[in-house]
Amino acid sequence: MKFGGTSVADAQAIERLIAIVRAQRQGDAAQEGGDSRGPVVVVSALAKATDRLLGVAAEAGAGDAEGAQHNLRDLRARHVAVAGVITDEAMRADVVAFVEREFDALERIVQALAVLREVSPRWLDTIAATGEIVSSRIVAAALASRGLPAAWVDARRAIVTGDEHTAAPPLMPETTAALMAQVDPLLAAGRLPVLGGFVGATTGGVTTTLGRGGSDFSAAIVGACLGAGEIQIWTDVDGMLTADPRIIADPQVVPQLSFDEASELAYFGAKVLHPATILPAVAKNIPVRILNSHRAEARGTLITRERPLSDRPLTAVASKRQVSVIDITSTRMLMAHGFLRRLFEVFERERTPVDVVTTSEVSVSVTIDDRRRLTDIVDALSEFAEVRCEHEMAIVCAVGEGLQSDPTLAARILEAVGDVPLKLVSQAASRRNITFVIREADLARALGGVHARFFGVPDTSHAGATGAKG
Ligand code: ADP
Ligand code: ASP
Ligand code: MG
Repeated sequence: MKFGGTSVADAQAIERLIAIVRAQRQGDAAQEGGDSRGPVVVVSALAKATDRLLGVAAEAGAGDAEGAQHNLRDLRARHVAVAGVITDEAMRADVVAFVEREFDALERIVQALAVLREVSPRWLDTIAATGEIVSSRIVAAALASRGLPAAWVDARRAIVTGDEHTAAPPLMPETTAALMAQVDPLLAAGRLPVLGGFVGATTGGVTTTLGRGGSDFSAAIVGACLGAGEIQIWTDVDGMLTADPRIIADPQVVPQLSFDEASELAYFGAKVLHPATILPAVAKNIPVRILNSHRAEARGTLITRERPLSDRPLTAVASKRQVSVIDITSTRMLMAHGFLRRLFEVFERERTPVDVVTTSEVSVSVTIDDRRRLTDIVDALSEFAEVRCEHEMAIVCAVGEGLQSDPTLAARILEAVGDVPLKLVSQAASRRNITFVIREADLARALGGVHARFFGVPDTSHAGATGAKG
């Protein structure tokens, strides 16, 4: 059971978490012949804590020791206040002392980094990891103080990763061994292990993180390595929705999804799930359920390898803002084999993932969302091609198995976009999605059009909706 930031935001949220975990345990125990071990609980940092910690690191890097310490004091106070949820006095004092020690250590690190005015990825991970380390300690004690046999597990001793700081890949055999040593015995003894998500350590014991949104990934890794029956992702919405609720006013819950659909949606912006989450779960064929910690009774979304056919042609529409398009044109490209290799080598060298790609005879267009190496990328590409960049673009990705069976569906989706200019359009071999790139300013209108046509409820609040049923 993984609880995201908003599900551990404050004492009230943690009270809800306790009720949910208790109900799960009771349910498991009541199930005849069921495996009543666990569950394992994986928690994120308190809502917004990771952003704040990264902000502190940025301030330190800029030499603003004062600003960094001010933010750290705020965060420390917030954690101490949330620890008030621990009802047992001795346990609470213990956890508060732990929180104080962690923040004392952070203050010293931040002070030193502010003098150096440089924060390496390695220190960035140490700073960011503190969020999950302290939140998980608080949650473990909160559960224990309510009579649940919780036991805190230090994620740095349970998740083993490579040393690519800020996006460290888990080493699965080593992690399996570590989980078997740290977590499995607790489960066997009827305990309820609680660990922080997002965090790991190298084989040498240096703290790492799995990348933003990585607590989902941690949950899937733990579930896969321990052979869980199900992975639950508890969040602040009713499940995977037919579109981003921050853009579309009336999205619906998708009751069931295939792994393939879910990974495409997650990859193209359905933030509710970390894109990589799905992989360890797919490998072991473990169902993933997305549930709402504010409304535990809602049925949520079930993600499985196969899903029953639905009468809906489309499953959901994902979208991603803040995308840049790079147009690479070469008149000498025609027939020149090796051109694409050369082109993609630039992105590989600069470690910048490419999302959407389209090609014509003389040009290639790609999208990226990580612009940190853009100048170097453009310089390298300019050695053999003409390069043009456009920023503030958005990707819209309509996903549905119906795209394979219904030859008219893609055309109907594009028609629903209306008169919004399409920069790129792509449909890959899987034919499970159709993806297009537009200006970010047109996103609400384009997404609104597609959503209203295929999931609407006509006459919704968003501008530009056609209101026609698909
Ligand atoms: P957590 O802190 O629990 O990990 P996240 O903020 O990472 O939660 O993800 C949940 C959020 O994802 C929702 O509040 C919602 O705003 C956003 N979101 C974007 N697209 C979708 C979608 N298609 N379905 C559900 N949620 C989505
Ligand atoms: N706390 C981390 C983040 O905000 C990981 C997570 O919540 O999934 O990115
Ligand atoms: Mg998340």
